[in-house]
Amino acid sequence: MLFNIHSHFSSKNPNVIFNKSDDNVDEYDYFSSGIHPWNASENEKLISSISIDAVNKKCLAIGEIGLDKLKGPEFEIQKSVFLKQIQISEEMNLPVILHCVKAWNELEIIKKEVKPKQTWIYHGFNKSNLVKSVLDNGVMISIGASILTNIKLQEIITEIPNSSLFLETDDSKIDIFEIYQKVSEIKKISLQELEKIIEQNFKRTFTKWHIG
Ligand SMILES: [Zn+2]
Repeated sequence: MLFNIHSHFSSKNPNVIFNKSDDNVDEYDYFSSGIHPWNASENEKLISSISIDAVNKKCLAIGEIGLDKLKGPEFEIQKSVFLKQIQISEEMNLPVILHCVKAWNELEIIKKEVKPKQTWIYHGFNKSNLVKSVLDNGVMISIGASILTNIKLQEIITEIPNSSLFLETDDSKIDIFEIYQKVSEIKKISLQELEKIIEQNFKRTFTKWHIG
């Protein structure tokens, strides 16, 4: 089974976590729900809609949420909305899918302050210089299509322990199989072995997931 922890397309595939945005979630989709930093606003209704989603049995994670220094509203608003959603993640025992652009320092500080019990996953990871710091902070790493072309990322992926790794397609339409294939090639492990590793990580982290 090929697990894909973050896709912007509804697939009705139980091994894919659909990132819910404005579109309705198909009843067959597992999904993550969160206010993206680009859309952050102190709208209580918006924030409570995440709490409502969080109790849905198909909602596996809070995300993507985070901080973005290049896009979106004022940083303080992003931070406040992020913290409120972290609270939901902690209360509802749901892992977090993180969006982080030029804001790792701030996320690191928040993580140290909040000391969350839930797993945080840095999605769409492509900053090879941050690998050590992200792992040292107990944050898991999800790799997407950039592994196919980003040479530095290809070099650093061998330093990511198997138990900290996820794979995703994000907003790309490529087949997750391509990412599995590339990672197995670089890590010099068989596809079957990689499948097993990701499946174990997935089941350990997304505890609401079940077949049927
Ligand atoms: Zn995304």
